[in-house]
Amino acid sequence: MSDTRKSNLNIKPELESKYNQAPINTVPAVILIATPILALFLVPWYLWTHSVGLGTWLVFAFMMAWTGLGITAGYHRLFAHKAYKAHPIVQNFLLIGGTLAVESSVFDWCAGHRRHHRFVDDEYKDPYSASRGFWFSHIGWMLRKYPSGQHDFKNIPDLTKQKLLRHQHKHYGAWIIVTNTVILLSFGWLVGDILGVFVLAGLLRLVLTHHFTFFINSLCHMFGTRPYTDTNTARDNFILAIFTWGEGYHNYHHFFQYDYRNGVKWWQYDPTKWLILICSKLGLAKDLRKVDEATIRHAQVQMQFKKVNNRLEKLGMQGFDISADFKAFKDKIAAEYDAFNATIAEWQTLKAKVVEMKKTEFTERLNEVDELMRAQFQSIESKIVEHGKSLDMTLRQLRQISV
Ligand SMILES: [Zn+2]
Ligand SMILES: [Zn+2]
Repeated sequence: MSDTRKSNLNIKPELESKYNQAPINTVPAVILIATPILALFLVPWYLWTHSVGLGTWLVFAFMMAWTGLGITAGYHRLFAHKAYKAHPIVQNFLLIGGTLAVESSVFDWCAGHRRHHRFVDDEYKDPYSASRGFWFSHIGWMLRKYPSGQHDFKNIPDLTKQKLLRHQHKHYGAWIIVTNTVILLSFGWLVGDILGVFVLAGLLRLVLTHHFTFFINSLCHMFGTRPYTDTNTARDNFILAIFTWGEGYHNYHHFFQYDYRNGVKWWQYDPTKWLILICSKLGLAKDLRKVDEATIRHAQVQMQFKKVNNRLEKLGMQGFDISADFKAFKDKIAAEYDAFNATIAEWQTLKAKVVEMKKTEFTERLNEVDELMRAQFQSIESKIVEHGKSLDMTLRQLRQISV
Protein backbone atom coordinates (compact mmCIF):
# COMPACT_ATOMS: atom_id res chain seq x y z
CA MET A 1 0.00 0.00 0.00
CA SER A 2 1.37 3.44 -0.93
CA ASP A 3 2.18 6.05 1.72
CA THR A 4 -0.43 8.50 0.39
CA ARG A 5 -3.07 5.78 0.54
CA LYS A 6 -2.12 4.97 4.14
CA SER A 7 -2.28 8.62 5.19
CA ASN A 8 -5.61 9.07 3.39
CA LEU A 9 -6.98 6.10 5.29
CA ASN A 10 -5.95 7.72 8.56
CA ILE A 11 -7.48 11.06 7.67
CA LYS A 12 -10.70 9.77 6.20
CA PRO A 13 -11.84 6.64 8.04
CA GLU A 14 -15.49 7.66 7.70
CA LEU A 15 -15.26 8.01 3.94
CA GLU A 16 -13.44 4.71 3.71
CA SER A 17 -16.14 2.93 5.70
CA LYS A 18 -18.75 4.34 3.30
CA TYR A 19 -16.80 2.69 0.52
CA ASN A 20 -16.63 -0.61 2.34
CA GLN A 21 -20.35 -0.61 3.07
CA ALA A 22 -21.52 0.56 -0.38
CA PRO A 23 -24.63 -1.41 -1.42
CA ILE A 24 -24.65 -3.65 -4.50
CA ASN A 25 -25.55 -1.85 -7.74
CA THR A 26 -27.92 -4.66 -8.73
CA VAL A 27 -28.84 -4.19 -12.41
CA PRO A 28 -25.35 -3.22 -13.70
CA ALA A 29 -23.77 -5.92 -11.50
CA VAL A 30 -26.04 -8.63 -12.94
CA ILE A 31 -25.37 -7.46 -16.53
CA LEU A 32 -21.60 -7.15 -16.03
CA ILE A 33 -21.26 -10.55 -14.36
CA ALA A 34 -23.80 -12.53 -16.40
CA THR A 35 -22.81 -11.43 -19.92
CA PRO A 36 -19.14 -12.60 -19.83
CA ILE A 37 -20.17 -15.93 -18.25
CA LEU A 38 -22.86 -16.46 -20.91
CA ALA A 39 -20.40 -15.50 -23.66
CA LEU A 40 -17.81 -17.91 -22.30
CA PHE A 41 -20.21 -20.82 -22.83
CA LEU A 42 -22.43 -19.74 -25.72
CA VAL A 43 -19.80 -18.40 -28.14
CA PRO A 44 -17.56 -21.54 -28.24
CA TRP A 45 -20.66 -23.77 -28.35
CA TYR A 46 -22.09 -21.78 -31.26
CA LEU A 47 -18.84 -21.70 -33.21
CA TRP A 48 -18.36 -25.45 -32.63
CA THR A 49 -21.85 -26.46 -33.74
CA HIS A 50 -22.60 -23.98 -36.53
CA SER A 51 -20.75 -22.78 -39.56
CA VAL A 52 -20.83 -19.02 -39.45
CA GLY A 53 -21.30 -17.24 -42.77
CA LEU A 54 -19.43 -14.16 -43.98
CA GLY A 55 -22.59 -12.06 -43.60
CA THR A 56 -22.76 -12.75 -39.85
CA TRP A 57 -19.07 -11.88 -39.40
CA LEU A 58 -19.57 -8.64 -41.34
CA VAL A 59 -22.50 -7.73 -39.08
CA PHE A 60 -20.28 -8.51 -36.06
CA ALA A 61 -17.52 -6.23 -37.41
CA PHE A 62 -19.95 -3.44 -38.23
CA MET A 63 -21.58 -3.65 -34.80
CA MET A 64 -18.16 -3.62 -33.08
CA ALA A 65 -17.28 -0.43 -34.99
CA TRP A 66 -20.65 1.27 -34.51
CA THR A 67 -20.77 0.51 -30.78
CA GLY A 68 -17.09 1.28 -30.13
CA LEU A 69 -17.10 4.55 -32.06
CA GLY A 70 -20.46 5.43 -30.53
CA ILE A 71 -18.62 5.52 -27.22
CA THR A 72 -15.32 7.08 -28.35
CA ALA A 73 -16.46 9.61 -30.98
CA GLY A 74 -19.92 10.05 -29.42
CA TYR A 75 -20.14 9.67 -25.63
CA HIS A 76 -16.49 10.59 -25.05
CA ARG A 77 -15.18 13.19 -27.49
CA LEU A 78 -18.51 14.75 -28.58
CA PHE A 79 -20.72 14.69 -25.48
CA ALA A 80 -18.24 14.60 -22.57
CA HIS A 81 -15.50 16.86 -24.02
CA LYS A 82 -17.25 18.90 -26.74
CA ALA A 83 -14.13 18.38 -28.87
CA TYR A 84 -16.15 19.11 -32.05
CA LYS A 85 -19.66 19.86 -33.24
CA ALA A 86 -21.55 17.17 -35.10
CA HIS A 87 -24.36 17.33 -37.65
CA PRO A 88 -27.58 15.87 -36.15
CA ILE A 89 -27.24 12.81 -38.44
CA VAL A 90 -23.78 12.03 -36.99
CA GLN A 91 -24.80 12.93 -33.44
CA ASN A 92 -27.83 10.60 -33.51
CA PHE A 93 -25.94 7.79 -35.22
CA LEU A 94 -23.28 7.95 -32.49
CA LEU A 95 -25.94 8.25 -29.79
CA ILE A 96 -27.53 4.99 -30.96
CA GLY A 97 -24.08 3.35 -31.18
CA GLY A 98 -23.31 4.45 -27.62
CA THR A 99 -26.69 3.16 -26.43
CA LEU A 100 -25.99 -0.23 -28.05
CA ALA A 101 -22.83 -0.42 -25.91
CA VAL A 102 -24.90 -0.62 -22.69
CA GLU A 103 -22.55 1.65 -20.74
CA SER A 104 -25.26 3.82 -19.11
CA SER A 105 -27.00 6.95 -20.35
CA VAL A 106 -25.08 9.91 -21.81
CA PHE A 107 -25.87 11.87 -18.61
CA ASP A 108 -24.40 9.25 -16.25
CA TRP A 109 -21.43 8.47 -18.48
CA CYS A 110 -20.42 12.10 -19.08
CA ALA A 111 -21.05 13.32 -15.52
CA GLY A 112 -18.77 10.51 -14.27
CA HIS A 113 -16.18 11.14 -16.95
CA ARG A 114 -15.95 14.87 -16.29
CA ARG A 115 -15.44 14.06 -12.60
CA HIS A 116 -12.73 11.57 -13.58
CA HIS A 117 -10.82 14.32 -15.41
CA ARG A 118 -11.35 16.91 -12.70
CA PHE A 119 -10.36 14.68 -9.78
CA VAL A 120 -8.15 12.14 -11.56
CA ASP A 121 -6.62 9.56 -9.16
CA ASP A 122 -8.43 10.98 -6.11
CA GLU A 123 -9.64 7.96 -4.15
CA TYR A 124 -12.84 9.62 -2.99
CA LYS A 125 -13.80 11.85 -5.90
CA ASP A 126 -12.64 10.12 -9.09
CA PRO A 127 -15.40 7.56 -9.84
CA TYR A 128 -12.92 5.07 -11.34
CA SER A 129 -9.77 6.08 -9.53
CA ALA A 130 -6.73 4.04 -10.55
CA SER A 131 -5.36 4.65 -7.03
CA ARG A 132 -7.82 2.00 -5.86
CA GLY A 133 -6.17 -0.61 -8.03
CA PHE A 134 -6.88 -2.56 -11.23
CA TRP A 135 -10.14 -4.28 -10.22
CA PHE A 136 -11.83 -1.11 -8.92
CA SER A 137 -10.85 1.07 -11.89
CA HIS A 138 -11.71 -1.64 -14.44
CA ILE A 139 -15.10 -2.88 -13.30
CA GLY A 140 -15.40 -2.80 -9.49
CA TRP A 141 -16.59 0.81 -9.44
CA MET A 142 -19.81 -0.19 -11.24
CA LEU A 143 -20.67 -3.23 -9.13
CA ARG A 144 -21.53 -1.25 -6.00
CA LYS A 145 -23.09 2.16 -5.38
CA TYR A 146 -19.93 3.97 -4.27
CA PRO A 147 -20.26 7.60 -3.11
CA SER A 148 -18.05 8.82 -5.99
CA GLY A 149 -20.44 7.23 -8.50
CA GLN A 150 -23.48 9.27 -7.43
CA HIS A 151 -23.95 12.26 -9.75
CA ASP A 152 -26.03 15.40 -9.41
CA PHE A 153 -25.51 16.39 -13.09
CA LYS A 154 -24.37 19.89 -12.14
CA ASN A 155 -21.30 19.36 -14.32
CA ILE A 156 -23.27 18.62 -17.50
CA PRO A 157 -25.60 21.65 -17.96
CA ASP A 158 -24.86 21.64 -21.71
CA LEU A 159 -26.19 18.07 -21.97
CA THR A 160 -29.21 18.27 -19.65
CA LYS A 161 -30.52 21.02 -21.99
CA GLN A 162 -30.87 18.54 -24.84
CA LYS A 163 -34.34 16.99 -25.13
CA LEU A 164 -33.30 13.75 -26.83
CA LEU A 165 -30.58 13.09 -24.24
CA ARG A 166 -33.11 13.73 -21.45
CA HIS A 167 -35.39 11.17 -23.08
CA GLN A 168 -32.54 8.66 -23.34
CA HIS A 169 -31.71 9.11 -19.65
CA LYS A 170 -35.32 8.86 -18.46
CA HIS A 171 -36.16 5.78 -20.54
CA TYR A 172 -32.68 4.27 -20.64
CA GLY A 173 -33.82 0.65 -20.09
CA ALA A 174 -36.27 0.88 -23.00
CA TRP A 175 -33.62 2.50 -25.21
CA ILE A 176 -31.10 -0.33 -24.75
CA ILE A 177 -33.68 -3.09 -25.17
CA VAL A 178 -35.33 -1.54 -28.25
CA THR A 179 -32.09 -0.57 -30.05
CA ASN A 180 -30.36 -3.88 -29.42
CA THR A 181 -33.42 -6.01 -30.28
CA VAL A 182 -34.59 -4.11 -33.36
CA ILE A 183 -31.11 -3.72 -34.86
CA LEU A 184 -29.98 -7.29 -34.19
CA LEU A 185 -33.27 -8.76 -35.46
CA SER A 186 -33.06 -6.67 -38.65
CA PHE A 187 -29.46 -7.68 -39.35
CA GLY A 188 -30.21 -11.30 -38.45
CA TRP A 189 -33.13 -11.36 -40.88
CA LEU A 190 -31.01 -9.64 -43.56
CA VAL A 191 -28.22 -12.24 -43.44
CA GLY A 192 -30.56 -15.14 -42.64
CA ASP A 193 -28.88 -16.02 -39.33
CA ILE A 194 -30.78 -14.53 -36.39
CA LEU A 195 -29.22 -16.79 -33.73
CA GLY A 196 -25.66 -16.22 -35.04
CA VAL A 197 -26.16 -12.44 -35.08
CA PHE A 198 -27.49 -12.49 -31.50
CA VAL A 199 -24.62 -14.64 -30.20
CA LEU A 200 -21.78 -12.90 -32.03
CA ALA A 201 -22.90 -9.35 -32.96
CA GLY A 202 -25.02 -9.21 -29.81
CA LEU A 203 -23.45 -10.99 -26.87
CA LEU A 204 -19.77 -11.32 -27.88
CA ARG A 205 -19.68 -7.75 -29.24
CA LEU A 206 -21.21 -6.42 -26.02
CA VAL A 207 -18.69 -8.14 -23.74
CA LEU A 208 -15.68 -7.17 -25.88
CA THR A 209 -16.81 -3.55 -26.16
CA HIS A 210 -17.36 -3.37 -22.40
CA HIS A 211 -13.91 -4.60 -21.50
CA PHE A 212 -12.10 -2.67 -24.24
CA THR A 213 -13.67 0.53 -22.85
CA PHE A 214 -12.85 -0.49 -19.28
CA PHE A 215 -9.18 -0.95 -20.29
CA ILE A 216 -8.94 2.82 -20.66
CA ASN A 217 -9.77 3.37 -17.01
CA SER A 218 -7.62 0.51 -15.74
CA LEU A 219 -4.66 -0.48 -17.97
CA CYS A 220 -4.28 2.99 -19.56
CA HIS A 221 -3.67 4.32 -16.06
CA MET A 222 -1.03 1.64 -15.36
CA PHE A 223 1.06 0.69 -18.39
CA GLY A 224 2.69 2.92 -20.96
CA THR A 225 4.64 6.12 -21.32
CA ARG A 226 4.09 9.61 -19.97
CA PRO A 227 5.42 12.01 -22.63
CA TYR A 228 3.27 15.02 -21.66
CA THR A 229 2.73 14.97 -17.91
CA ASP A 230 3.53 12.89 -14.84
CA THR A 231 1.10 14.70 -12.57
CA ASN A 232 -1.41 11.85 -12.93
CA THR A 233 -1.36 8.11 -13.66
CA ALA A 234 -2.62 8.29 -17.29
CA ARG A 235 -0.35 6.64 -19.90
CA ASP A 236 0.07 6.52 -23.67
CA ASN A 237 -0.15 2.94 -24.87
CA PHE A 238 -0.15 1.99 -28.57
CA ILE A 239 -1.31 -1.62 -27.98
CA LEU A 240 -4.32 -0.41 -26.04
CA ALA A 241 -5.06 2.17 -28.76
CA ILE A 242 -5.63 -0.75 -31.15
CA PHE A 243 -8.39 -2.18 -28.96
CA THR A 244 -9.94 1.13 -28.00
CA TRP A 245 -10.39 2.92 -31.33
CA GLY A 246 -7.46 5.21 -30.57
CA GLU A 247 -8.20 6.06 -26.95
CA GLY A 248 -4.95 4.43 -25.78
CA TYR A 249 -3.07 7.73 -25.98
CA HIS A 250 -4.45 8.57 -22.58
CA ASN A 251 -1.53 10.62 -21.21
CA TYR A 252 -2.00 13.16 -24.00
CA HIS A 253 -5.76 13.06 -23.49
CA HIS A 254 -5.54 13.81 -19.77
CA PHE A 255 -3.30 16.80 -20.44
CA PHE A 256 -5.22 18.22 -23.42
CA GLN A 257 -8.68 16.80 -22.93
CA TYR A 258 -10.62 19.03 -25.34
CA ASP A 259 -8.49 18.06 -28.39
CA TYR A 260 -10.52 15.96 -30.84
CA ARG A 261 -7.41 13.80 -31.30
CA ASN A 262 -6.04 11.42 -28.68
CA GLY A 263 -3.25 10.12 -30.89
CA VAL A 264 -2.03 13.60 -31.72
CA LYS A 265 0.78 12.73 -34.16
CA TRP A 266 -0.45 12.09 -37.69
CA TRP A 267 0.99 8.56 -37.63
CA GLN A 268 -0.57 7.53 -34.30
CA TYR A 269 -3.35 4.94 -34.62
CA ASP A 270 -6.53 6.80 -33.74
CA PRO A 271 -9.50 5.74 -35.94
CA THR A 272 -11.81 7.97 -33.88
CA LYS A 273 -9.90 11.11 -34.92
CA TRP A 274 -9.91 9.91 -38.55
CA LEU A 275 -13.68 9.40 -38.43
CA ILE A 276 -14.20 12.92 -37.02
CA LEU A 277 -11.86 14.37 -39.65
CA ILE A 278 -13.65 12.55 -42.50
CA CYS A 279 -17.01 13.78 -41.16
CA SER A 280 -15.68 17.35 -41.15
CA LYS A 281 -14.50 17.02 -44.78
CA LEU A 282 -18.01 15.83 -45.70
CA GLY A 283 -19.58 18.77 -43.91
CA LEU A 284 -20.99 16.54 -41.16
CA ALA A 285 -18.78 17.89 -38.35
CA LYS A 286 -17.23 21.29 -37.63
CA ASP A 287 -15.24 23.33 -35.09
CA LEU A 288 -12.74 20.51 -34.44
CA ARG A 289 -10.74 21.66 -31.42
CA LYS A 290 -6.95 21.27 -31.51
CA VAL A 291 -4.12 22.22 -29.21
CA ASP A 292 -1.49 24.24 -31.11
CA GLU A 293 1.77 22.53 -31.97
CA ALA A 294 3.95 24.83 -29.81
CA THR A 295 1.90 24.10 -26.66
CA ILE A 296 2.22 20.35 -27.28
CA ARG A 297 5.98 20.62 -27.84
CA HIS A 298 6.29 22.77 -24.75
CA ALA A 299 4.70 20.03 -22.62
CA GLN A 300 6.90 17.36 -24.21
CA VAL A 301 10.17 19.27 -23.73
CA GLN A 302 9.17 20.19 -20.18
CA MET A 303 8.75 16.46 -19.44
CA GLN A 304 12.13 15.70 -21.05
CA PHE A 305 13.79 18.22 -18.72
CA LYS A 306 12.03 16.63 -15.79
CA LYS A 307 13.32 13.17 -16.81
CA VAL A 308 16.89 14.42 -17.29
CA ASN A 309 16.86 16.18 -13.93
CA ASN A 310 15.46 13.10 -12.18
CA ARG A 311 18.22 11.02 -13.74
CA LEU A 312 20.89 13.53 -12.69
CA GLU A 313 19.54 13.52 -9.17
CA LYS A 314 19.62 9.71 -9.06
CA LEU A 315 23.19 9.62 -10.35
CA GLY A 316 24.17 12.32 -7.87
CA MET A 317 22.84 10.14 -5.08
CA GLN A 318 24.96 7.28 -6.36
CA GLY A 319 28.10 9.40 -6.00
CA PHE A 320 28.60 10.30 -9.67
CA ASP A 321 28.73 14.02 -8.92
CA ILE A 322 32.41 13.85 -8.11
CA SER A 323 33.31 13.51 -11.77
CA ALA A 324 34.09 16.64 -13.81
CA ASP A 325 32.04 15.23 -16.74
CA PHE A 326 28.99 15.05 -14.58
CA LYS A 327 29.33 18.68 -13.47
CA ALA A 328 29.68 19.77 -17.10
CA PHE A 329 26.46 17.93 -17.94
CA LYS A 330 24.63 19.62 -15.12
CA ASP A 331 25.73 23.04 -16.35
CA LYS A 332 24.83 22.20 -19.93
CA ILE A 333 21.32 21.15 -18.96
CA ALA A 334 20.84 24.24 -16.81
CA ALA A 335 21.89 26.40 -19.78
CA GLU A 336 19.53 24.45 -22.09
CA TYR A 337 16.71 25.01 -19.66
CA ASP A 338 17.32 28.78 -19.57
CA ALA A 339 17.33 28.90 -23.36
CA PHE A 340 14.12 26.88 -23.48
CA ASN A 341 12.42 29.22 -21.01
CA ALA A 342 13.54 32.23 -23.07
CA THR A 343 11.90 30.68 -26.16
CA ILE A 344 8.71 30.02 -24.22
CA ALA A 345 8.66 33.63 -22.95
CA GLU A 346 9.14 34.84 -26.54
CA TRP A 347 6.26 32.64 -27.65
CA GLN A 348 3.95 33.88 -24.89
CA THR A 349 4.72 37.52 -25.72
CA LEU A 350 3.92 36.84 -29.36
CA LYS A 351 0.60 35.21 -28.42
CA ALA A 352 -0.35 38.21 -26.26
CA LYS A 353 0.61 40.53 -29.12
CA VAL A 354 -1.67 38.64 -31.55
CA VAL A 355 -4.60 38.91 -29.12
CA GLU A 356 -3.95 42.65 -28.71
CA MET A 357 -3.64 43.24 -32.47
CA LYS A 358 -6.86 41.35 -33.12
CA LYS A 359 -8.62 43.64 -30.69
CA THR A 360 -7.38 46.85 -32.27
CA GLU A 361 -7.03 46.07 -35.98
CA PHE A 362 -9.91 46.35 -38.42
CA THR A 363 -11.62 43.06 -39.28
CA GLU A 364 -10.42 43.23 -42.92
CA ARG A 365 -6.81 43.27 -41.78
CA LEU A 366 -7.10 40.21 -39.48
CA ASN A 367 -5.94 37.88 -42.24
CA GLU A 368 -2.82 39.99 -42.71
CA VAL A 369 -2.12 39.82 -38.96
CA ASP A 370 -2.51 36.02 -39.08
CA GLU A 371 -0.18 35.79 -42.06
CA LEU A 372 2.42 37.99 -40.40
CA MET A 373 2.37 36.04 -37.18
CA ARG A 374 2.35 32.59 -38.75
CA ALA A 375 5.99 32.91 -39.82
CA GLN A 376 7.05 34.04 -36.35
CA PHE A 377 5.12 31.22 -34.68
CA GLN A 378 6.78 28.71 -37.00
CA SER A 379 10.25 29.93 -36.09
CA ILE A 380 9.42 29.58 -32.37
CA GLU A 381 8.00 26.11 -32.95
CA SER A 382 11.15 24.97 -34.67
CA LYS A 383 13.24 26.42 -31.82
CA ILE A 384 11.24 24.30 -29.33
CA VAL A 385 11.82 21.23 -31.52
CA GLU A 386 15.55 21.99 -31.46
CA HIS A 387 15.51 22.21 -27.65
CA GLY A 388 13.88 18.77 -27.57
CA LYS A 389 16.47 17.29 -29.94
CA SER A 390 19.49 18.65 -28.10
CA LEU A 391 17.99 17.44 -24.82
CA ASP A 392 17.57 13.96 -26.30
CA MET A 393 21.21 13.96 -27.32
CA THR A 394 22.31 15.09 -23.86
CA LEU A 395 20.24 12.32 -22.29
CA ARG A 396 21.89 9.73 -24.54
CA GLN A 397 25.35 10.99 -23.60
CA LEU A 398 24.37 10.98 -19.95
CA ARG A 399 23.34 7.32 -20.24
CA GLN A 400 26.74 6.51 -21.74
CA ILE A 401 28.75 8.06 -18.90
CA SER A 402 26.57 6.45 -16.28
CA VAL A 403 26.79 2.91 -17.67
ZN1 LIG B 1 -8.39 8.49 -17.50
ZN1 LIG C 1 -11.80 12.01 -21.47
